[in-house]
Amino acid sequence: MNILILGNGQLGQMLAQATIRLGHECLLVNTRTHQVMPAGAHVAMQMSIADAVAWADVVSWEHEQLDPEHVQLAADKLLTDPSKILPLTHRQLEKKLCDDLEIATAPWVAFNTQTQFQDAIAQWQGKAVIKAASGGYDGKSQWRYDADNAGDITALADTAGRQPGIIEAMIPFQCEVSIVGARAADGRIQCYPLVENVHRNGILSHTFAGIQAFPEHLQQDAERAFSKITEHLGYVGTLAIEFFIVGEGSEARLLVNEIAPRVHNSGHWSMQGANISQFALHIRALTNMPFAPFVIQPTLMVNAIGVPHIPDSLWQDGESAPFWYGKEARPGRKVGHVNFHVNDRAGAEALATQWASELQILS
Ligand code: ATP
Ligand code: MG
Repeated sequence: MNILILGNGQLGQMLAQATIRLGHECLLVNTRTHQVMPAGAHVAMQMSIADAVAWADVVSWEHEQLDPEHVQLAADKLLTDPSKILPLTHRQLEKKLCDDLEIATAPWVAFNTQTQFQDAIAQWQGKAVIKAASGGYDGKSQWRYDADNAGDITALADTAGRQPGIIEAMIPFQCEVSIVGARAADGRIQCYPLVENVHRNGILSHTFAGIQAFPEHLQQDAERAFSKITEHLGYVGTLAIEFFIVGEGSEARLLVNEIAPRVHNSGHWSMQGANISQFALHIRALTNMPFAPFVIQPTLMVNAIGVPHIPDSLWQDGESAPFWYGKEARPGRKVGHVNFHVNDRAGAEALATQWASELQILS
């Protein structure tokens, strides 16, 4: 089949690689310049987006911030109704969607004006994270607040309260996890085991996959949330849900933090750690190809953030699988990742500690 991907960043490129391996063809749209490009090269083709859509059997996206013009052009070839995923690009609507589906999240309130913000924060007890309703990623457009140590509320209202957003309770989580899976065009659903994500400065630093088994009830709860959400959205493709785990043992439960209707950084481990990567799973889902039971190998994924290159030793050692995105390095910008096969938690922790500091310049 012919597949057109809206977006040609690293996620688009990794989707393109999976597409080609499955015997399909692929073109990408640079959503900033509105040009059609081949996989693997930032070179504009002499082809309009309308012609690329006509060429494609299926259109998909690497990122949910869709350009309305592209959506209109591609409407007949998108397998998920883009209007259905709009709530996932707006934190108030995303939280409301979870509330409506009775999926637990951190307690929250919405505000749309500076006055509403001031009223809400004046009544807030305890610690909070304030998040702009739209446009935030990698911890950007977020502010922390502590009612017991409130500081200058007017200054906070000038930044955090400047645009619509939410005030959300700061969750003292045990750890952060995500479920990545896919729903196929014919409704089949398959999810990877929960993986643990460690963030630094609000940015995903590393993921432990297939190393520790989470209590079975958490895997089931995560998969139930996945089915509820994807079925409600009529979603086709790979999707990720980030959760906080609160409580311990049999008392442990999940709170949804974010839903990403796309392939996700916390699924990058699957390029080495699973028989089917999240990118291949997305393409299988879109093209209604069969799924297969997952075979998982314990894997650590460490993001390269803000560094100018991945050290030679990682390219040379034969144990690790580095990916470089070909982007200019800036502090806090994801520029690559490295997957490591690991034997146990202690070994993975040691590697994560070593490489998170060597591979990450956060600010
Ligand atoms: P992404 O790049 O994953 O889209 P983001 O910038 O959109 O991230 P969030 O996932 O909401 O933002 O937050 C980033 C990180 O900040 C979380 O992974 C978590 O570590 C921390 N965080 C966010 N909200 C809370 C909360 N309510 N309680 C505790 N920590 C939080
Ligand atoms: Mg997040």
